[in-house]
Amino acid sequence: MELEAVVAMVPSPGMGHLIPMIEFAKRLCRHHNLRITFFIPTYATPSTAQTTLLTSLPPLISHTFLPTLTLSDIPPNAKMETIISVTLLRSLPSLRHALLSLSSTHRVTALLLDFFGTDAFDLARQLNAPPYVFFPSTAMLLSLALHLPRLDQDIQFRDLSKLVHIPGCLPVLRKDLGYPFEDQDGDAYKWLLHHSKRYILAEGFVENSFRDLEPDTLDLLLKEEPGRPPVYPIGPLVKEDDAGSGVNMVEQCWCLKWLDAQPEGSVILVCFGSGGTLSTDQMEELALGLEMSEQRFVWVVKCPNEEVPNASYFTQDTHAHPFDFLPKGFVERTKGRGLVVPSWVPQAQVLRHPSTGGFLTHCGWNSVLESVVNGVPLVAWPLYAEQKMNAVLVSEGMKVAVRVVMGENGAVERGEVARVVKMVMEGEEGKKLLHRMKELKEAAAAALREGGSSSTQISELALKWKAPTKPSN
Ligand code: UDP
Repeated sequence: MELEAVVAMVPSPGMGHLIPMIEFAKRLCRHHNLRITFFIPTYATPSTAQTTLLTSLPPLISHTFLPTLTLSDIPPNAKMETIISVTLLRSLPSLRHALLSLSSTHRVTALLLDFFGTDAFDLARQLNAPPYVFFPSTAMLLSLALHLPRLDQDIQFRDLSKLVHIPGCLPVLRKDLGYPFEDQDGDAYKWLLHHSKRYILAEGFVENSFRDLEPDTLDLLLKEEPGRPPVYPIGPLVKEDDAGSGVNMVEQCWCLKWLDAQPEGSVILVCFGSGGTLSTDQMEELALGLEMSEQRFVWVVKCPNEEVPNASYFTQDTHAHPFDFLPKGFVERTKGRGLVVPSWVPQAQVLRHPSTGGFLTHCGWNSVLESVVNGVPLVAWPLYAEQKMNAVLVSEGMKVAVRVVMGENGAVERGEVARVVKMVMEGEEGKKLLHRMKELKEAAAAALREGGSSSTQISELALKWKAPTKPSN
C-alpha cells in the first residue's frame, strides 16, 4: 500500500519567515487535505509567540524543533543572514535524521526550504524529495536573487551611489538594496550570493506575492526560461485570525478593545515587525513626533538597541521593560489618544480593525501584505534586510505609501514623523494612497478566491505533492 504523502517544511529561526510558511501549509491542508511536517532549526529557546503559533495548528500539520545548536564560535556582531544560514547549515545532520524517520512512515513528496536553506538541496535530492524554495518576500527580491550571480561580476555594481537594474523591476539605488549589499566582502553578502548561485538547483520557487502587486516583475518571472526553475506566485498569504486557535487573542488583547472605542479609520498603527528596534534617541524622536502629529495611534514599543536595528528578531522575551525608555510624561500626555503596547500586538487583527486607518511600518513583507489585504495605507520606515527595497516598491511601484526622509545623521526627526503621519491620516495624499490600497485589497481577494491566480498555483503544487509515486524504470 502506498504511504501517505507529506510535505516537509523547513523555515528559518524567528517569526518573519515562519508565519507565511505556516499560512501556506494551512491552505494546503485545508483545501487539499495534504499533511505537512515542520522541522524548525533553532539556536535559542523559541519565543512564546512562536510556540503559541505552532501549537495552535490543525492536526494535519505537525512540528518538531530540531536540536538547539550552539553558535558561540560565530562573532557576536554577525548579521542575520549569517546567523540564519549557519543555523540551517548546521542543522543538516539532525534534519537528515528527522527526514529519514519521517520517510519510514510517510512518502515525503517535497522539501520546502526557507530561502536561506539551499544547503539542504543535496539532502533533499538524496532522499528523493524535490527541494522547493519558499520566498516570503517580494518577487523583486527573487528577481534580484536570481540575477545576483551576474550582477556580482559587474564592476559598476560596486558603486553604492549607482542605480541597480533588476530584471522586471524599478531601478533601485544600490544603497537601497540593504546592508548586506553595502559590503561585498562581508559575510552577509557572501551568504546571499552563495544561496543565489544555488537557486537554479531548486525544483521551483513558492513566491508570496501576486501579479497586481508586482506586474512587470511577475510577468517576467512567469515566463519559462531555460535553466531557471518555475515560480509559483501564491500570495498574499498572511496571518489569519488567532480566534479558534485555542489562544483567544480577541478577548485577551485590550488593544483591540481600545480600538473598538476609536472612530473609524482614525488610528495609525506603529510597529517595526517581529524584530525591529530603534536607538534610544530615535525612540524619543518617534514618540515626540507622534505627539506632535495629534493623531490617534497604537505603538508597539520594544526595548531600544544602539547597535543593530533588528535586535529582537529571534526572540521576544526580554527582561527590561520597553516603557522605561519612553520620554518622561509621554504616556500621560497622549492618554486617550494613543496606546503604547509592550513588544507585541496581534498585528493582523489590528490592521483588520475598522478603527485602523494607517500603518507606520518597517516594510517587512508580511506587514506590507497584511496592509494590502486590509486596505490600510502606509508610512514606510525601513530598517534592515530588504526593507529599503520594499519601501521603494510600496512608495514608487505600488503607490500606497509615503516614505520617511532620514536626516543627515541617519535619524528621522520628530517634525518628519509628524509630517508623514498627518499626510497619511488626514491629507489629500493620504486619500490617494487609500484609494489605491483599496484597489489592491480587491485584487488580493480575487487572487485567493477559488479559481483566482494564487489559488490555482497552490492547487497545482498540491496536485504535484499528492501525486502517487511514479514507478521507477
Ligand atoms: N507581528 C505581530 N505583532 C507584532 C509584530 C509583528 O503580529 O507586534 C507579525 C506581523 O503581523 C507579521 C510578522 O509578525 O506577520 C512580521 O513579519 P514582517 O515580514 O513584516 O517583518 P519581520 O518581522 O520579518 O521583520
